[in-house]
Amino acid sequence: MISLKNIHKSFNDKEILKGIDLTVQDGTTTVIIGPSGSGKSTLLRCINLLETPEIGEVTINQVGYNAKHLKKKDYLDVRQATAFVFQNYGLFENKTILENVSIGLSVVQKKTKQEAHRIAQEALEKVGLYDKKDQYPRQLSGGQQQRVAIARALALHPQVILFDEPTSALDPELVGEVLKVIKEISDEHTTMIIVTHEMEFANQIGDQIVFMEDGQIVEEGSAKDIFETPKKERTKKFLARYR
Ligand code: ATP
Ligand code: MG
Repeated sequence: MISLKNIHKSFNDKEILKGIDLTVQDGTTTVIIGPSGSGKSTLLRCINLLETPEIGEVTINQVGYNAKHLKKKDYLDVRQATAFVFQNYGLFENKTILENVSIGLSVVQKKTKQEAHRIAQEALEKVGLYDKKDQYPRQLSGGQQQRVAIARALALHPQVILFDEPTSALDPELVGEVLKVIKEISDEHTTMIIVTHEMEFANQIGDQIVFMEDGQIVEEGSAKDIFETPKKERTKKFLARYR
């Protein structure tokens, strides 16, 4: 289980996260939606301590990390427990696809090269890109590169995979193949937290939907609760834009 308790984060004295509480059960997919600037990316980055909150506690698998007394090792532990899929893939251009997926396994997780390659190949098969393993990122389409980034996250077998708008940099015709892969992973009960503006996808994939505005969680619930019977005016107003 992943849980956040009273997370506060400011930039330049402006409070961006105003006390966030959230629980994500193992094996489930949580989707975070909300207007631009509401703090969705900041929240995701606080979960793996890419940003350090001023106040609050992140708990991953029963280990609590309190913002008030974080040690260097805590950052390493949290990074190892999580994997992040970025908007712009973040692949190493000078490494092959197989190396991109296996490097974290050998360097961070200290697996032998042989073992790292075996796990990486398995992950590439899962996203349908085994045949591209000896190519370089520039030889792949954006959608394929993002699928490689997803394979890299999967291969690490983290406690949770965090996705920040994984399809927003893609040409429209490439969005579908990436969403399909994410859906398949979700169906296998990988624990995931996804920020997206793709409402139909959120509705299909989310076990839990979280609507954020102005640094706060306005409303959360099942996809049915949020998309069919939202209770708060602010949620209704936001969703109306997508109808
Ligand atoms: P979008 O949907 O556009 O991606 P978001 O909900 O992800 O928006 P955030 O990126 O979390 O929003 O940003 C929330 C606010 O925090 C914005 O006003 C942004 O300018 C500010 N912010 C985010 N990161 C930083 C930073 N490193 N330094 C200063 N301000 C920041
Ligand atoms: Mg964002």
